[in-house]
Amino acid sequence: MENHVIDLRSDTVTQPTPAMREAMAMAEVGDDAYREDPTVQLLEQTAASLLGKESALFVSSGTMGNLVALMSHTHPGQEVILEANAHIYYYEAGGLARLAGLTPRLIDTPDGMIRLEQLQAALRLLNLQFAPAALFCLENTHNRAGGLVLPQEEVEKVTAYAKEMGLKTHLDGARLMNAAVYQNLAPERLAEPFDSVMLCLSKGLAAPVGSVLAGPADFIEKARLVRRILGGGMRQAGVLAAAGLTALTEMPKKLAEDHRRARKLGEGINKIPGLRVRGEVQTNIVIVDITAGDLDSHRLVEKWRQVGVLAGLVESRAVRLVTHYEITDADIEQVLEVTEEIMHQAR
Ligand SMILES: *Cc1c(COP(=O)(O)O)cnc(C)c1O
Repeated sequence: MENHVIDLRSDTVTQPTPAMREAMAMAEVGDDAYREDPTVQLLEQTAASLLGKESALFVSSGTMGNLVALMSHTHPGQEVILEANAHIYYYEAGGLARLAGLTPRLIDTPDGMIRLEQLQAALRLLNLQFAPAALFCLENTHNRAGGLVLPQEEVEKVTAYAKEMGLKTHLDGARLMNAAVYQNLAPERLAEPFDSVMLCLSKGLAAPVGSVLAGPADFIEKARLVRRILGGGMRQAGVLAAAGLTALTEMPKKLAEDHRRARKLGEGINKIPGLRVRGEVQTNIVIVDITAGDLDSHRLVEKWRQVGVLAGLVESRAVRLVTHYEITDADIEQVLEVTEEIMHQAR
């Protein structure tokens, strides 16, 4: 217990499972540029079928999957409509502007969900002085909103309107499986309203590398070319795809436990004076606002680090704790115990 680090910075810190390492070692591979890697092909078929799309493409990261989608759906000079805290806007190093040549139009929401009326208002304002809007994106679960799941009925309404207005639609579904598990809905149901969807294999699903982008067959052919342009074409990538396949088949059933532990963590934290969980804990992300006097995120994260708990910074007075398959019930209890002590001393 003493030297055991409890890493709650992100679900990306997950180590590949023993089953993944075995699958990687045994994977049948070939040159994927010649479309001769059977494991990559199996992953792409499996992902397409899981997401209810015609085809899918294995990409090296979620950022690449989103960027490939932006570039495949649009032309430089067009506009992409995003939620103001969208990962694509916030955390992807400005690739949408620099590489896709897009202007982002941001819509503020409290919970990550762009409502129909908001999109209607945004599009009604359009005139010739604006860059033509080409693409509408949503994110499910929403990362900066604390892993909140988008209400599916609202998603269906707003995407139907986007399509009616001639926009393409893309879902940043980095944590789509978490959203599916939370709602007890099939992932394809959540992906259905969108032309394309990106899903990360390397978050809570614990693969070491990779994401998939799924959509119509002709879109994915275009995406394959764009991936090549970006340097994302791969060779014997089956060693990576093998871990991704294990991630898709073995890991989703474990996510409910991650969610249960995150809820438990959130409930415990809400009992500690000076800390307050922001919003509802629905999936595996807990955002904690620091309400105590002079404590800030840097100091809290450093105090945690000294006792073997790693947390992420969100804002100067907000931190983030993310559960994943390596976090146990005992870990949650331990975190609550040390946190209580830290906050007691801070008073
Ligand atoms: C992690 C994440 C991505 C992709 O990030 P990579 O680090 O490139 O894998 C995209 N969208 C969301 C919402 C994410 O959380």
